[in-house]
Amino acid sequence: MAEYKCYVCERPVKTGEKFTFTKKGGVHMDCFVAERRKEIQPEKAEQLRVLSQILDSELQHLINILAVQGVPEDMKEKVRLKYKDIEKAAGDTTRMISEL
Ligand SMILES: [Zn+2]
Repeated sequence: MAEYKCYVCERPVKTGEKFTFTKKGGVHMDCFVAERRKEIQPEKAEQLRVLSQILDSELQHLINILAVQGVPEDMKEKVRLKYKDIEKAAGDTTRMISEL
């Protein structure tokens, strides 16, 4: 996996860490949620709580797919498409959190 730097804490994002992408670049999920928590109106806090739990489970799902061992050569494309689906879902959730 390519090396990304988190734009909040400025540490590199390591494989197996939960991270996402916004317009500003790559960011740890925890850094992103903490930053948004400071920026949003207090009445949006419940929405942030729910969306961040959904994002957490989507990013965990991505990590779990990457951890699947011994994928046969003729299945690699299927697994890649499954990964892409979840990645897209996580991207949508990230966008929703960005727009709170
Ligand atoms: Zn970070």
